[in-house]
Amino acid sequence: MALVVKKFGGTSVATTEKIMAVAKRILAEKKEEDKIVLVVSAMGKTTDELIGMAKEVAGDPYRYARELDMLMTTGEQVTISLLAMAFNALGHKAVSFTGAMAGMKTNEVYTKGRILGIHPKRVEEALDAGNIVVVAGFQGINAEGDMVTLGRGGSDTSAVALAGALKADSCEIYTDVEGVYSADPRLIEGARKMQEITYDEMLEMARLGAGVMQPRSVEMGKHFGIPIHVRSTFTDKKGTMIREAYTMEEKDFVIRGVAHDDKVAKIAIMGVPNVPGIAHTIFSSMADENVSVDMIVQSSRNIERNVTDMVCTVASSDLGIAKEVADRVAKELEATGVLIDENVAKVSIVGVGMLGNPGIASRMFGALKKANANIDIISTSEISISCLIEKSVLKEAANAIHDEFFPRA
Ligand code: ADP
Ligand code: ASP
Ligand code: MG
Repeated sequence: MALVVKKFGGTSVATTEKIMAVAKRILAEKKEEDKIVLVVSAMGKTTDELIGMAKEVAGDPYRYARELDMLMTTGEQVTISLLAMAFNALGHKAVSFTGAMAGMKTNEVYTKGRILGIHPKRVEEALDAGNIVVVAGFQGINAEGDMVTLGRGGSDTSAVALAGALKADSCEIYTDVEGVYSADPRLIEGARKMQEITYDEMLEMARLGAGVMQPRSVEMGKHFGIPIHVRSTFTDKKGTMIREAYTMEEKDFVIRGVAHDDKVAKIAIMGVPNVPGIAHTIFSSMADENVSVDMIVQSSRNIERNVTDMVCTVASSDLGIAKEVADRVAKELEATGVLIDENVAKVSIVGVGMLGNPGIASRMFGALKKANANIDIISTSEISISCLIEKSVLKEAANAIHDEFFPRA
C-alpha cells in the first residue's frame, strides 16, 4: 500500500473538462489499496482574477490583507468541491476539505502565512474510510480562526507539508511543464529539463524567481526528507526529482540554472544622513510591516553633505506598503526624497559549481554586455549571482546568459 500526495496546479484544473481528466487519470493509475490525497489550486487564473476584482474596489488590496485572504481562499474551494464530485460521479468515494478542515495551522501574517503545524486527523480518517481526499492548497487557519493564504504558488507548500505530516511515500507536483528546467522554458529557448536537482539548488532557483515551485515547499521537502517529483499533468513522462543529493551523473554543468523575476521593484531613499543606525531604522520599519527586502545597496557618501542614498528591492506585491514606509521614514530622517522604479527585473544564475570558481561572474557579466543590458545592482550568495537590470531587456539578457552556460548545439 502506498500513501501518495499529488498536487495539481491551476492550469491542470483550469476547466471542468480538465478536472474530469485529472479524476480519470487518478482512478486509472490508482491501485486498489493506495491511499491518495490530492492538493489542488484554484482553476486557471482564478487567483489573479480575484485579485483583479479586489483592485477594482480597493486600489492596492494587499493593504486589506485579511479580506484579500478571505477572497483568494474561495478559488481553491471551487476546485476541491468540483473534483470531489467528479470522483463520486465516476464511482469512487471522495471528500473535500479546506485547509482549515485538513488541520493546516498558520501564523497570523495574511497573504504570506507560514505553516506552524498540521494536524490532519480528518484527512487520515477519511482515507481510512476509503475516500480519495481532496484538499484546498494555498490556505490554512490562524489561531483566531481566520483564513490565511501561504503566498503566491502556496499550494506547492500545502502539498509537501501535508506529505510530511502524513508520512507519505511520495509527493508529486503535477504542472504544465514536464519538470524543472535549466531556466523557464517559456522564456528561454533551449532550456533543458533536469532529471534531478538538490533541495539546496532548487530552493535558490525558486527564491530567485523560478516559479515552478514555491521556495517554502522546497524547504519543507528538505525538512521532512521527502523527495519531490515535479512532472506534467498532460503526459506520463518522468519529470524531475528534487532530493537531498544527486544520484546520477548528469553532464557536469558549472551552473545549474538561470532564474528570473520580473515582479520586483526598486525603492531609493535619497539623501539620508550618514550616521550609525540609519539602515536599522529603515529596514526594521519595513520588517514591522512584513515587507521582505531583497537586494540592498548603500551608495557612497556625499562628503559635502554627509548623506547617502539607500536603495533596495522588494516584491511588486509589497510595493504599496513599502512605499508608504519609505515615505514615512524619509520624512522622519529628513531625507531628500523617495524614488520608485518598477521597470526593473532580476536575473540570476544558480549552482554549487560556482563555489570557488572565479570565472563565473565575469562570464555572466559578459553575457549581459552582449545583450546590451545595463547592470543596476549585483548581489551574490554562496551559490548564486543576481543582477538587477531593466525589465525591457530581461528576455534577451536571460537568453544570453543561458546560451553562455548551456550552449545550444
Ligand atoms: P502551477 O499552476 O502548476 O503551480 P506554475 O505556473 O506555478 O504552475 O509553475 C509552472 C511554471 O513555472 C511553468 O509554466 C514555467 O513557465 C515556470 N517556470 C519558471 N522557471 C522554471 C523552471 N526553471 N523550470 C520549469 N518551469 C519554470
Ligand atoms: N492559487 C494560488 C496562486 O495562484 C496558489 C497556487 O496556485 O499554488 O498563487
Ligand atoms: Mg505554482
